[in-house]
Order: sequence, then C-alpha cells, then structure tokens
Amino acid sequence: MTGSTPAPFTAADHRARMERAVRSAADAGLAGLLVAPGPDMVWLTGYTPTAVTERLTLLVLAPGRDPVLVVPTLEAPDAERAAGATALTLRDWTDGKDPYAVTAGLLDDRGRFGISDNTWAMHLLGLQRALPGTSYASLTDALPMLRAVKDAAELELLAAAGAAADLAFEEIRKVPFAGRRESDIGQDLAGLLRRFGHSQVDFTIVGSGPNGANPHHEVGDRVIRRGDMVVLDFGGLMDGYGSDTTRTVHVGEPTEEERRVHDVVRAAQEAGFQAVRPGAACQEVDRAARAVITDAGYGEYFIHRTGHGIGVTTHEPPYMIEGEEQPLVPGMCFSVEPGVYLPGRFGVRIEDIVAVTGDGARRLNNTTREMVIVD
Ligand code: ZN
Ligand code: ZN
Ligand code: ZN
Repeated sequence: MTGSTPAPFTAADHRARMERAVRSAADAGLAGLLVAPGPDMVWLTGYTPTAVTERLTLLVLAPGRDPVLVVPTLEAPDAERAAGATALTLRDWTDGKDPYAVTAGLLDDRGRFGISDNTWAMHLLGLQRALPGTSYASLTDALPMLRAVKDAAELELLAAAGAAADLAFEEIRKVPFAGRRESDIGQDLAGLLRRFGHSQVDFTIVGSGPNGANPHHEVGDRVIRRGDMVVLDFGGLMDGYGSDTTRTVHVGEPTEEERRVHDVVRAAQEAGFQAVRPGAACQEVDRAARAVITDAGYGEYFIHRTGHGIGVTTHEPPYMIEGEEQPLVPGMCFSVEPGVYLPGRFGVRIEDIVAVTGDGARRLNNTTREMVIVD
C-alpha cells in the first residue's frame, strides 16, 4: 500500500477541501472531524506519513479554528513539509507524553466528533479516556458524500486511471489463457497496470470456470482450460486516483447459454449506465440494472449491489444499492457492475467506471463490452 504518488493538488485546493469538510461537519451537528492517516487525510491535506505506526497522528478540524495536525515529534520534519504546503498548524508530541491529552486540548470537551473509519481503536479509546464527555460518529456515516463529488482535476485523474486500465485489458486479451494458472494471469494484469502508469495495484481478480461464480474469489492455482469463462476484475491507483474495471472473457468458443448470460449482463450494464443522470437516486441505477437480469430469469444470481464510488480509494460512497436515496450530482464517479453467478459453473460481470455529467453520464472505461474470445 505504499509508493502511490500524491495527486497534483495545490495548497488552496486542500484548504478549500478542509473548509468544506468543516462546514459539512457543522451542518451535521458535529463539533469537528478527527482524521487518521488514510484516504480522508490524503484527500484533505495531501499528507501521508512515511509509516503508520502505533504513535498517534491525527488531523483535527473544528469550526472557527485553524486545522491542526497532531504528529509524533519524529514525524514532524516530514509533516512540516506537507503542513507548510497546506497551512496546517503542527502540534507535535514526544515519546513519554500523552498524545490524547495533547489532542484533548484542541477539542470541545462535550463535543460530538466525526472520526475517520480507519482510525485505530486504541486511539479512539485513548480520546474517550482523555475526554469522557465527548462522543463519536463514523466519518463515513456522518458525511458519506464528503469526497463523492469530484472536481474537474479529479475527474481527469480518474479518466486517466480508467484509460490505463483499458490499455491493460487490450494487452491481456492477447495473452494465452488455456493451460496457465489464474495467478499467472493475475501477475500479468498487475504488471500491465504498472506498465501503464499505476503506482499501486489493489486487486487482480481472475475467476475462471466455477471460480468466476464467486465474486470474492481473487486468484488461485486453478489451471484455466478451454471452455472456461474468465472474470477479470482489476484496478488500483494511478497518480493518487483509482481504476476498477471488469470484463468477462471466454477461452475458445462459448456455449449458447454462456452467450445468453453474457448478453443479459451486458444489457443490464447498459441499462444501469442509461439510468445515470443528475437528480436520479443511487438506487435507481441498481434497479435499472437489476430489472434486466430479473426479467431474464437470473435475478437470484445477481448477489451484490450494482456499484460503488471511486476516488482516492477504489471503494467508497456513493453506493448504487436499493435503499440509497442519495441523488446523483454531476462529478460523482462510481462503478456500474452487474453480474450473474451460477454456483459451481461460471460467472459473468461487466464493470465500467462512470462519471455523472450535467445531463447524463460518461464512461471512463471504453473497451468493448462484447464477449472477447481468448486463446
Ligand atoms: Zn465455456
Ligand atoms: Zn471491480
Ligand atoms: Zn468495482
């Protein structure tokens, strides 16, 4: 999870994001936001500590005060560079001091705070001990849409990551599949993502034959055979922003049933994409894709939500799922990835990242959605 190049954003961009975050927090009735190293901190400040250790590093955002980054003294020189670039105030603490007492001095002692989801439990427990009158909410629960609407520069980075993933698919479709292990194809995919500019590969799913029917399958030792459907789902980070695309290929000529299932999933993916427009609820995208699969008789085999947001991580809000009434807004970016999984037999999934535009949507993945035959 290291080596990802920070995205090219300015101090002004980061200050604007922090101000927006504080305003949203206040609107949500929170006394502030506490952010541990991870995607929220990267997005807000551009800062990633060289190593995340048991020592507390925490960004404190509260209405009416300057953003403060609490850091271990030994990380301070690194943090200073980032802090200088974003007008953060540093508050360092040395070993032997209580970092929670230091942080407590910055907080309303009766406040309710949004705290980033990946904050270590020991840190939250330390804060609760230092400030028994405070309470906490998951930052993602409190402000699910904080990072959801991308600006023009973010959309460009996401489009570039998508284009790189597309190039990886154009290459992988040329390699031999039959007789090789899933893990070999997975390594090829990871190499291609890096070759086309990714600094971090998050996943390379290669689900051949019956393994394709398990959407959580990553790669295994199974040797791919002629006649197999193979689900290829891969992505990672390029210049700090994510890619995530799926194509399902077939080794040699498919059966009529395999063609039919692939056609159904392709039509469902298209219907989901067509449902994307400003003002539509997230759940409408899920419903549109699901209806096609249900009408074709495969409803019980589509066993996951239709999509998830993408940005500085490869999975984040908004979620295209029944019950999510959040309206789509231009700049939101997420996957549309319906699938059909026939247990013990094969699976088909087709996934594009799409961005909401002023009057509809555009795809950030543009390789063919027809079934590709590989050797
Ligand atoms: Zn087959
Ligand atoms: Zn995917
Ligand atoms: Zn996905």
